[in-house]
Amino acid sequence: MGDSLHCRNTLVLNTPTPTLPPIHTDVLIIGAGPVGLFQVFELGLLGLSCHLIDPLPRPGGQCIELYASKPIYDIPGLPACTGQELIERLLTQIKPFNAPFHGGQLVTQIETLLQPVAQDGDQDTSQSATQDPSAPRFLVSTASGLVFAVKAVVLACGVGAFLPRPLVSLGVEPWVGRGVFYGDIQEHLQQYRQQHPPREVWVVGGDEAALSVALQSLETLEDWAAKHNTGGEPPAQVTLIHRREQLVAPKGLIDQFNNRLASSVRAGPQAVKLRFLHGQITALEAPGTPDLEALEALEAFDASRGHELSKPMCLTWVDAALQSHTARVDLVSVNLGLSPQLGPVSEWGLAMKKKQVTVNTEDFSTDCEGVFAVGDINTYPGKKKLILSGFHEATLAAYGIAKRVFQTDKIPFEYTTASPRLHERLGLAPKRPD
Ligand SMILES: Cc1cc2nc3c(=O)[nH]c(=O)nc-3n(C[C@H](O)[C@H](O)[C@H](O)COP(=O)(O)OP(=O)(O)OC[C@H]3O[C@@H](n4cnc5c(N)ncnc54)[C@H](O)[C@@H]3O)c2cc1C
Repeated sequence: MGDSLHCRNTLVLNTPTPTLPPIHTDVLIIGAGPVGLFQVFELGLLGLSCHLIDPLPRPGGQCIELYASKPIYDIPGLPACTGQELIERLLTQIKPFNAPFHGGQLVTQIETLLQPVAQDGDQDTSQSATQDPSAPRFLVSTASGLVFAVKAVVLACGVGAFLPRPLVSLGVEPWVGRGVFYGDIQEHLQQYRQQHPPREVWVVGGDEAALSVALQSLETLEDWAAKHNTGGEPPAQVTLIHRREQLVAPKGLIDQFNNRLASSVRAGPQAVKLRFLHGQITALEAPGTPDLEALEALEAFDASRGHELSKPMCLTWVDAALQSHTARVDLVSVNLGLSPQLGPVSEWGLAMKKKQVTVNTEDFSTDCEGVFAVGDINTYPGKKKLILSGFHEATLAAYGIAKRVFQTDKIPFEYTTASPRLHERLGLAPKRPD
């Protein structure tokens, strides 16, 4: 069934879910940065449906992840606006088109179809893609099992997928997804504590995300302790460990964290504690066990079977004076920021130059028919990595896609100021009967 574009090394972000029937839409936009968002607008004006996908839980790309509160001065008509404000404005602008956003999804594979996919998810072998070019041409899959059947794909992947910076410590790898998680761990705490509350929760990092996870975990454990008799067991403890003494977060959050640290010191021996360590985790292991036993311990760590936990992890950390310490730990949340990784895009066999996809500037198509590339991911003579350039690219790409999907070279060119059809699509005028 499939051919051509292929991601050879599948990156796995989440555990794959059983394959669901494909989601049908005209266009899939891979990447929800400012350019991917504006692509929704331009496609919507031309009457094309689309979905947006990103490994991040929220749209915004670099504007949100790298400079949310910094002002941008070169967006036409907006003398100054922050990264956050620009994304909020774009989200408002694309609202009329109701494009679903799928966060937490890394696209790993694009497959070109030789046969179209029927709407019920079954393969329709009655027509070939060459006979009906407006039928879905691509099956796009994500690391966690979503599949899209689409007529065109827009790569708006920027400088790559923003993925969590990994914890680089000895022996961490087998624990990831078992006792070690990236970012928020509330769901795991909730599952875990139903039978056997974790007593030692470690949070790695010193930014807003790390502080938030530490404070939320503290509240969850306090809540659990208030409702249950701990039978004289030592109280639970949340430890924030950061390689620097200084925390980098909004002042209000740092004050809240410091207040909770101070109240932990004053609290009685049975109170859930919060503490802050200046140091780094260097190793994680299941102590004193050969490999096989360690693996069994890992299985027993499954959050859904927390009560079976018999062998917690043991971590080694070094303090600022390079003194080594060991500690028992039940759950670790890693918050070391995000770093862009080109990952799958470079594996799809598209023509590239210096890690960017080469495009035809007439419609920003790539060398694979039906795949377009806009924004920071593309390159062409004179390319400037600017948001306004990406907006222009998204406009021409939308016309290229419309020609393809509607099978005509005559896509009407209309002004938003004057076109009743565009007013309808923007929800400014009632829909006329077809
Ligand atoms: C500090 C800083 C300041 C800047 N200031 C300005 C400025 O003043 N003016 C200006 O015009 N530009 C500025 N820029 C550049 C501007 O931010 C970029 O040009 C713009 O963000 C590009 O938008 P994009 O949508 O192409 O990509 P991005 O914003 O990078 O978004 C791409 C999205 O694609 C996602 N993605 C990648 N791979 C995959 C995949 N396989 N599956 C699913 N999703 C994927 C990523 O997670 C990301 O969210 C600045 C950049 C930085 C770093």
